[in-house]
Parts: sequence; C-alpha cells; structure tokens
Amino acid sequence: MELQSAYRQASPPCAISHSPAQAAQILLTRHWDKRFPVNVAAIIAAEGLNLVCRGILNDEGYGFSGYYNRAARTVEYNGNEAHVRQRFTMAHELGHYALGHSDAPRDTASSFVSDSTKPQERAANQFAAALLMPAAAVKVVIQAGTVKTSDELARIFGVSKVAMAYRVQNLGIAV
Ligand SMILES: [Zn+2]
Repeated sequence: MELQSAYRQASPPCAISHSPAQAAQILLTRHWDKRFPVNVAAIIAAEGLNLVCRGILNDEGYGFSGYYNRAARTVEYNGNEAHVRQRFTMAHELGHYALGHSDAPRDTASSFVSDSTKPQERAANQFAAALLMPAAAVKVVIQAGTVKTSDELARIFGVSKVAMAYRVQNLGIAV
C-alpha cells in the first residue's frame, strides 16, 4: 500500500495531455465507490491530499471559497458556505491539482461562475462538474425515468440546482 500511495502522490492524472473531463474520469476510476452523491472528500483523501475546513471556530475571517496549496498538497474549503457549495469547491480545488496547475490563487466566488475568463478557473469548473456529475451516471439516472425534475437530480448528485442545470444542458440531455 505504501508503494501504491507513493506512486499516487507522484502522479496527478495530469496535466498536459488530459482534458478536465478526462482527468475527472481518471480520478473517478481510481477512487469512486459508484455511490451518489460522489464522495469528493474521500477521493481527495484517497489521492493523498490534505483536506482542511476553513472559516469556522477561530477562523471566521477566512474570506475565500477555497484554495489549492500545491506545495502543501492541501485543499481548503470554506465551511461556512452551503453544503453543495462546499462540495463544488472541493471538486474545483481538486481540479487544480488534477490538471497540474501551480499554486492556485485563493478562489473567491468569481472563480466559480461558468463564464470565468481565466482558463484555469474554467478548466477547474469543468473538472468539478465532470467529477460530481459523471456524464454516464447522469444519463443513466435520467434514462431510468424515475427522476421527474432537475431539482431531484441536483439532490441525487449533491450539487446546486444551477450546477445541475448547466451540466444537463452541456451534456445535451433533458430531464
Ligand atoms: Zn480555482
């Protein structure tokens, strides 16, 4: 296990040759237990990264949604934000790691909007969507026919209604 763990630490799915969706798929294949919602915290831990909750207790001044610290191999997320937002932040910061980005700037709300003009932020958002709402899984759930609204779909995947709506739209499918 130690050897395997060392190997993982040396190799983010990376970097140059993979699209955000491909990088997300690699991590899902490595670590996802196929349950919904995707346990992003468990994937971060399995990848050998540290996960730190900020903004609570004596840390109320933390003014960011999240931060990826490459040198410390740490993903931070703001524990004061909505649960679905925390999950998206974790996935977004994991995306900076998976895509080989250098120390990410501390992410504020503007990093998470779908039309962010910064390429690395857009890529991290695309990664997060692909990780939390795997394309094949979204299609299977919709085609099963038991989900009647996009709100139900958002609950299943543990994401915001807005994030779910974008994902469904981008995948070209309808609920
Ligand atoms: Zn970011």
